[in-house]
Amino acid sequence: MSETIFSRIVRGEIPCHKVYEDEHVLAFLDVNPIAPGHTLVIPKEPAVTLDQLSDGAAGGIGRALPRICRAVTKAVGATAYNVLQNNGADAHQLVEHVHFHVIPHLGGQGLGLGWKPSPLDAEQGAELGRKIARLL
Ligand code: 5GP
Repeated sequence: MSETIFSRIVRGEIPCHKVYEDEHVLAFLDVNPIAPGHTLVIPKEPAVTLDQLSDGAAGGIGRALPRICRAVTKAVGATAYNVLQNNGADAHQLVEHVHFHVIPHLGGQGLGLGWKPSPLDAEQGAELGRKIARLL
């Protein structure tokens, strides 16, 4: 659990352009958008990374996120968008409070991805799949 700028926004100590709030969730415009409508959706619970989120907060996020995506894209007239969620400094997380970026793709604006796929080895895939499943 951490004290971050987002905890202060949740408590109303720092202003934001709020677009949605319920018991578990707050959503507001990103202060440095990479596209019009770039919105942050956060749990009120101050978990640092997604794996640390309680089931209650996760359920709240799951319920709210699709509705917020619909409203954001409709508001800016986008038909495509990305939902980005970074965990850990190595994965580009700057604010240590779980947050989902809703980023409309509009013309040339939106999320650019450095995605370098390679084929999954069948044997390694089977072993890794079983290993992850055992941990769930
Ligand atoms: P991260 O890299 O951690 O996934 O992204 C953090 C995001 O939070 C950035 O896009 C940044 O612009 C946004 N952000 C940081 N501080 C504030 C703030 O005080 N208010 C708002 N609305 N957004 C913020």
